Amino acid sequence: MRQSFARFVVVCSLAALACAPPAASKKNPGAVSPAPTAAVSVGINTVEQPDPGIAAMAARLDLEKYKATIKGLTQFGDRRQGTDRNRAAVDWIEAQLTSYGCTPTARITYDFRQLPRTPRPPMDSAARARAAMWGVGGARVRGTRMPTGVNTDSSRQPDAKLRALDTPQSVDGERQEVYCTKVGTTHPDEMYIVGGHMDGIGWGEAANDDGSGTALVMELARVFSSPDVHTDRSIRFILWNNEETGLDGSRAYVAQRAALQGIENPKGSGKYPEPKWLGMIQHDMMMFDHGLPNADGTMRKEQRREANVNIEFQSRSKFAADAERLAWAFQSANEKYATDYPAQVGRHMTNTDSSPFEDLVPSISLRENERGAQIGAGWDPQWHQPTDLYTTYGDDDFRLGLNAAQTTLGAVGTLAGAKYEPGSR
Ligand SMILES: [Zn+2]
Repeated sequence: MRQSFARFVVVCSLAALACAPPAASKKNPGAVSPAPTAAVSVGINTVEQPDPGIAAMAARLDLEKYKATIKGLTQFGDRRQGTDRNRAAVDWIEAQLTSYGCTPTARITYDFRQLPRTPRPPMDSAARARAAMWGVGGARVRGTRMPTGVNTDSSRQPDAKLRALDTPQSVDGERQEVYCTKVGTTHPDEMYIVGGHMDGIGWGEAANDDGSGTALVMELARVFSSPDVHTDRSIRFILWNNEETGLDGSRAYVAQRAALQGIENPKGSGKYPEPKWLGMIQHDMMMFDHGLPNADGTMRKEQRREANVNIEFQSRSKFAADAERLAWAFQSANEKYATDYPAQVGRHMTNTDSSPFEDLVPSISLRENERGAQIGAGWDPQWHQPTDLYTTYGDDDFRLGLNAAQTTLGAVGTLAGAKYEPGSR
C-alpha cells in the first residue's frame, strides 16, 4: 500500500542518514518488519549499520558473473527490436531467469509499428541558444558539449561478423518482453518493479546501452530467487523491449496492467497477478563515467576516480516528493552496501522506461551519469554507436555497474523486507 510506503519514507527523510525499515501496520497486523539494524554514533550523526542478511545477499553479486551476463547478451548483437536476434535474446533472458529459479516467467505481448518520423522544424537562434544551455528533463548543461545521435551507417562497424549479425532491420508487428516475480510472503499484493531495457541500436553490441542494466536486473533476479531469501513484499524483474523507439515496451506494460493492480485473481487464491506498484526503479547505461569530454573532443581512457552512480527522480512528476525520498533511500543503501563507488541524487530523470510510470508511482532511474546534463551532452561517446562493445570496457567500468546492482539490491531488499535465512527453502 502507498500509505506504508509514505510512512517509511517520512522516517527516512527525517533521519537523513538512517532510513528506518517499514513499521508493522495496525491495519496490516501481518506485516512483519525487517529486523532493526544497529545504529552507531559518528560525531553528531547516527549511522545505521548494514543489515547482515542483506549484506550477505549483496556479497553474492560478483563482478565476473555480472560481466558474463553482459557478454551473454552481446552474442545477439545490438538486439534491435523487431528482429530475430531480438527475439532470440528474449528467449535467452527467459531461460536464464528460469535457471535462477525466478519462476514462473511471463511475457507482455504488444504490437509495434514504426510511425514515419516528422522532421523537426529548423531552430531559430534563440531556440539554438536555449538548446545549448538546457538538456532534456530540465537539466542545465555545462562544459564541453559533444555531438550525439544514433549511428545508422553499417560501414562504421569494422567487425564483419557483427555487421552481418546486426544487418536485418526491424519489421513491424508483434513484440514481447519478459519478466519474473519474487512473490512476497506477507504482502504478495504489493511490489517494487526493477527494470532495464534489453533492446539496443547503433550497429554495435549495445553492451552498455543497455546490456549493463539488463544484466544488473538479471543478477538481482538470481540473488533474490535463492531459496534462502524471503521478502515480505513482491519484487518484479522486467526486461523492457522497444526502449529505443520511444519507451514503447514500458508504455505497453502500463497500458495493459495499471488497472489490474492489487486485484486478487482467482478470488480467494491469495494470488495477485499485478501487485500494487510501490515504486519503479529503472537501470539504463550503468558503466561509463569517464567525466566531461576534453576540450578537443577526446575522452579520458580510464573511469574517472570520482565516478559515481547517478540516481535521478523527476521533480516535475506527480510523485516527485515520494520519488525524491525513494532516491535518498537508494543513496543510503549505496553507502551501506556498495563497495567502490558512491551515489549522487539528481532531479531530472528522463528518457528511459521509468518515465511512463512517473505520474503513477514513485519512480527513479540509476545510471552512469545524469541523462540530461551529461549523457545528453556527449559524456558517453559509445552511446548508440558501433563502439558500444563488450571489449570497449574495463573492469573499473564493469565495477560501476556492479556497484549500482549492490545499491539496488540493498535498497529494494530493505524496502521489500528481505530476509536471508540460510538452510531454509
Ligand atoms: Zn538505453
